[in-house]
Amino acid sequence: EVRVSHLFKKFGNVNVLNDIDFTINEGEFFTLLGPSGCGKSTTLNCIAGLEQPTAGSIAVGGTPFVDTERGIYVPTEERNLGMVFQSYALWPQMTVSKNLAMPLSIRRASRGDKAERIHDALDKVGLSHLKDRYPHELSGGQQQRVALARALVYSPSVLLLDEPLSNLDAKLREQARAWLKRLQEDLGITTVYVTHDQDEALSLSDRIAVMFEGHMAQIGTPKEIYERPATAHVAAFVGSCN
Ligand code: ATP
Ligand code: MG
Repeated sequence: EVRVSHLFKKFGNVNVLNDIDFTINEGEFFTLLGPSGCGKSTTLNCIAGLEQPTAGSIAVGGTPFVDTERGIYVPTEERNLGMVFQSYALWPQMTVSKNLAMPLSIRRASRGDKAERIHDALDKVGLSHLKDRYPHELSGGQQQRVALARALVYSPSVLLLDEPLSNLDAKLREQARAWLKRLQEDLGITTVYVTHDQDEALSLSDRIAVMFEGHMAQIGTPKEIYERPATAHVAAFVGSCN
């Protein structure tokens, strides 16, 4: 369970997040949807520990990661979260295996444990046979899978995905979408997904949170959001005609 309560973020004197509030259930595929600049990445980065909120609290599985009132701040490396960014940048000078070994080394895994975890993670994304390749020897879709394997390699409690498919062309993106959905269901891992693509959100998510200009406009299942948009903004953005 991921609980985000009354989250505020200012950059300078600009309010980028205003009272963002949501709870994600165990195993849920939860999507932050909204136009460019609405604060999706900032919200995700606060969960990840890459941004410090101005006010509010974040807890995962009952453990507080941030609570500005109680002065709690758990650093990112102690949060046990798997992350994939928009530009799934792999380390170009390292093989696939080495790319996956890196986060394990940071967490001081033993060598035997490391080899097994790397094998398991590559197996999950179906790329064990490419472990000795370098990133430039892989297709865009394969690189994106390696980035996902790297996020899964230390068995994170939550997966944070910031537009992970945006670098792929339209056809590959469709395939990757179906594949990602299946993997998430198989693993049953709680997932926070960021996208500005309505179709992607509607097809992947258990629930969607629609954001506008730093505010939460509506939270609901794809069906609820599509059929009963709470505001004209949501209706226009999600493309429903109600
Ligand atoms: P996109 O879909 O384009 O990725 P987003 O919803 O992820 O957009 P954010 O990256 O969260 O948007 O940015 C929200 C707002 O905060 C934007 O107006 C952005 O310019 C601003 N912002 C983000 N990071 C910083 C920063 N480090 N310093 C100042 N302003 C920032
Ligand atoms: Mg973003």
